[in-house]
Amino acid sequence: MRGLSWLVVGVLLLGSCAALAPQNRQQTRQTQIQREKRPLVLTTFTVLADMAQQVAGDRLRVESLMKPGAEVHGYEFTPRDLVRAQEAALILENGLGLERWGDRFYPSLPNVPRVTLTEGITPIPIQEATYRGQPNPHAWMSPQNALIYVENIRKALTDLDPAGAEIYAANAAAYQAQIRALDQKLRQALAALPANKRYLVTCEGAFSYLARDYALQEVSLWPVNADQEGTPRQMARVIEIVRRQQIPAVFCESTVNAAPQQQVARESGAAFGGIFYVDSLSPPTGPAPTYLDLLKYNLHTLIHGLTGRTAP
Ligand SMILES: [Zn+2]
Repeated sequence: MRGLSWLVVGVLLLGSCAALAPQNRQQTRQTQIQREKRPLVLTTFTVLADMAQQVAGDRLRVESLMKPGAEVHGYEFTPRDLVRAQEAALILENGLGLERWGDRFYPSLPNVPRVTLTEGITPIPIQEATYRGQPNPHAWMSPQNALIYVENIRKALTDLDPAGAEIYAANAAAYQAQIRALDQKLRQALAALPANKRYLVTCEGAFSYLARDYALQEVSLWPVNADQEGTPRQMARVIEIVRRQQIPAVFCESTVNAAPQQQVARESGAAFGGIFYVDSLSPPTGPAPTYLDLLKYNLHTLIHGLTGRTAP
């Protein structure tokens, strides 16, 4: 039976490599089997998977529980997700209340270690009534915070696999250097925005950390993705602010329905400036397949929407 299932795996793996010589095929299959034997690090959502992959390199198998485009806050996990998580050597989660489904998910995984990547980050409390005082979970939207995520990932992977310590340290340092460089570039690009254009109007209040870092004013339709998305009251409030401040463009995020914000644009006279990526990366062929791409794409979209100019 075992021999048969390897054969099936081999046929599937090699279906697209029919032109390879038998010896190469054998090698390809063995390499693939070796790769599948690496310990699985499972992250809750796609942004964390990319960060963890940058630190892990080829040494570990990193996967995201959720697919690109999935709604992270109210995710409905499946029995298959639980089976997958039981196979993981480590789970990396965001914390700060992001994974609201965790209370139902984690009790089935008593033997899988879990690390919270926002450990050591100073949370920004949510101001809106229903959530007042709860931490805003979108800490990764600040590149400064991302440096802490990366350090937490480095520690977690080193605990899991001490023999890889040097590799993880080198990968983490290189990635942190990239994050710092992009942070500087975005900071300079945004510093050029005039005071009356420093508004970031979005659907979800997911930009509090980014707005703090870059001295922007955040205006959102709703505080955290939940049942109440785009009520008439929420829209009336934002329409009023957009009109009063003469904000040129409003935006929404890839994982939620943009229709309420498009209505805000129509009624306020602002342009609908486009879609941000926050709670999920885009698919590999989209504009934000990595965390660094996500930051770049969002900031370019923002600057273009507010000024009509293309960011450098
Ligand atoms: Zn969110």
